[in-house]
Amino acid sequence: TRSFKAHLHNETATVAMGNKLAAIIEQGAVIYLHGDLGAGKTTFTRGVVQGFGHSGKVKSPTYTLVEPYELVRANVYHFDLYRLGDPEELEYMGIRDYFSEQAICVVEWPEKGGDFIPVPDLDITLSYVGDERKIAINSASERGVAIVEKLNS
Ligand code: ADP
Ligand code: MG
Repeated sequence: TRSFKAHLHNETATVAMGNKLAAIIEQGAVIYLHGDLGAGKTTFTRGVVQGFGHSGKVKSPTYTLVEPYELVRANVYHFDLYRLGDPEELEYMGIRDYFSEQAICVVEWPEKGGDFIPVPDLDITLSYVGDERKIAINSASERGVAIVEKLNS
């Protein structure tokens, strides 16, 4: 496992970190976002989605489970599984179809999805540091190792 770590002083820094990741990742990447409520997972995702060219709002798909962003550089699918009852619901929504080599998938609360969601390339954890935040980006695949090496170079 390779790791990239950073302190995020404010919301702008969290968005900028998402932007930075968007400049490095390619289609097919699967990103898990861990962290308590309010830790900044959706804020970070906004940075990723905007980095891929989206200019509107980014709201968490708490009730719909997934929000699609079909953009010029890639299709980005933002999942929030916080309210998922039974992981089998993911089968019914055709979850596997989203995780293609043509898409970037960003998943909040992946632990709620059990084995129904594909394994990640990156495991990202956002944590509170007083009023501020920190981020740890850990590789979880060969593709993830290459991404983390670029972040650290
Ligand atoms: P989550 O999706 O993890 O529940 P959100 O991104 O919805 O969290 O909310 C995070 C909250 O923390 C927002 O109010 C945002 O403005 C704030 N925030 C994001 N990043 C930082 C940071 N680096 N320092 C302080 N506050 C932050
Ligand atoms: Mg969220």
